[in-house]
Amino acid sequence: MKYTNEQWQMVFTIFCHDCFMFWKREGLSTAKAFEKARMETLSLKHDPFSPKGQEVDTQALSQWEKLYNQQTVDLLYAYEHKNAINELRVCSNCGFPIFYGYYISGSFFCCDKCAVDGAYNGNEERFTKDLEHGDDPRDLMWDEVYWSQWHYPINE
Ligand SMILES: [Zn+2]
Repeated sequence: MKYTNEQWQMVFTIFCHDCFMFWKREGLSTAKAFEKARMETLSLKHDPFSPKGQEVDTQALSQWEKLYNQQTVDLLYAYEHKNAINELRVCSNCGFPIFYGYYISGSFFCCDKCAVDGAYNGNEERFTKDLEHGDDPRDLMWDEVYWSQWHYPINE
């Protein structure tokens, strides 16, 4: 089955995040790790998650690149240089730039795992509960915890 454009966007972002985490573990800075992960993603020829993965949809990839662009790399370097990377919309747990992810009481998290580890000390149950409460306009937690997507640069 061919992926839809939306599925491709997810494949690229998850792959990029995996590469990013690899380079972070190797000791690279956030900006350097993202720069390498982004290049690795942009040079994908096949779906990296299955053995004989289907060929990459190049249109979907160039759409992905519009979001995860060179400007994002430059921003990460600039803010890293002045030690202010947390002023950007990056994951509070791993540093990955965020266009899709969780907002939790003033912080951003790139995925479920980072949200649970970074904001809930591993307590997945509380995270799930807070997400439900965050979705209810009559609840005190409303708008304090939610998933969202942003189509603008990570410093605005
Ligand atoms: Zn993260």
